[in-house]
Amino acid sequence: FSALTLDELTAQRDRARRDYDALVQRGLSLDLTRGKPSARQLDLASAMLTLPGGHTAADGTDCRNYGGGQGLAELRAIFSGLLQVPAAQLLAANNSSLSLMHDTIVHALLSGLPGVGRRWVDEPRVAFLCPVPGYDRHFALAERFGIELIPVPMNDEGPDMDVVEGLVREDAQVKGIWCVPKYSNPNGVSYSDETVRRLAAMPTAAPDFRIFWDNAYAVHHLTETPVEIADILALCAESGNPDRAFVFGSTSKITFAGGGVAFFGSSPANVSWLLGHTGKRTIGPDKINHLRHVEFLRDEAGVLEHMRRHRELIQPKFEAVDLILTKELGGTGLATWSKPLGGYFISLDVLEGSARQVVSRAAEAGIALTPAGATHPYGDDPADSTIRIAPTYPELPEVELAIGGLATCVRLVGTERLLERA
Ligand code: PMP
Repeated sequence: FSALTLDELTAQRDRARRDYDALVQRGLSLDLTRGKPSARQLDLASAMLTLPGGHTAADGTDCRNYGGGQGLAELRAIFSGLLQVPAAQLLAANNSSLSLMHDTIVHALLSGLPGVGRRWVDEPRVAFLCPVPGYDRHFALAERFGIELIPVPMNDEGPDMDVVEGLVREDAQVKGIWCVPKYSNPNGVSYSDETVRRLAAMPTAAPDFRIFWDNAYAVHHLTETPVEIADILALCAESGNPDRAFVFGSTSKITFAGGGVAFFGSSPANVSWLLGHTGKRTIGPDKINHLRHVEFLRDEAGVLEHMRRHRELIQPKFEAVDLILTKELGGTGLATWSKPLGGYFISLDVLEGSARQVVSRAAEAGIALTPAGATHPYGDDPADSTIRIAPTYPELPEVELAIGGLATCVRLVGTERLLERA
């Protein structure tokens, strides 16, 4: 639109205003805020509600009783390859990988990491690198413990590694980096092998630097050609940094978001460290739920087949978002957006300085979006341009309505901005 004459641009703005007024008149109430599975996705795992059929694990463990801090071996075997963690180095816990990330940070703060005398809480300052755009709950979790958040730009191969390497080499207070290495939240980027290799091998000033490798979307493919990423634990070990990575994952978006199983994988030293601390907190995880997952998912192929069914439900929603955005905004220069090959999100970039206004216009029209800025540390996107779209939860017709409405808001705010500048 920047090539339009003033009259043409004014006409586009007037059309957008009429469309927006009509949108508001409809009195919609739609929600694209959070990446939640839809009820139909959850229905795919309904059979789990009648499981487990028995209560005895493969090794004879009575799952009804206390114990088994590492989680059922047969469940760890199913997820070992999928999460690229040797089964002996994988923990199966209760629901929510976010709570495992929380606990590892608390233990590092209060007890220190293996082989390092100093606890994070005794450091003058603890900072984490935050590739942006990123996941708001990662940022909020670290912020809650007073950890300083340092944004690092993402490119299409992952975090900008020149920036990352510079920061970790120079600043011993940089203790961690948040990574969503596959189908990242929110822009769908998967890390290239070279990025993973550099993360594993880079020299760090902090001896207790950790990569928080949140592989939340390991098996959440939107195409028939799954993206594979390099094996972070193996590369860390090969590079002489065996304790560098904490791998997280969960079945929250495989089985039940509210009743899944979370996983932690790392070096033997880190696994014993976490198990030691977890043993003070609980006498064992919910093994009945582990057994239920084993009976339902059966093996790695069972997980992949189940995820194919998820894909059948959600891929049309992602496709609809792309089609509508292309039809409404393609070629206007008012927005660009990601075309993810997996995961749960699309990231929409609008003209600099206008994301907040687009989100508030959408809210006035009854379309709830994740707050602009949420994709950045402290909720502050300095360019005010990134909007996260989460299309999985509403049914397809609602997704279509909401994205059509959002596109109208982008046209309205965008044409107004261009006219102000003209
Ligand atoms: N990590 C990422 C990147 C996520 O997008 C989400 C859910 N939106 C989570 C973790 C939450 O995982 P869990 O349900 O296992 O706590």
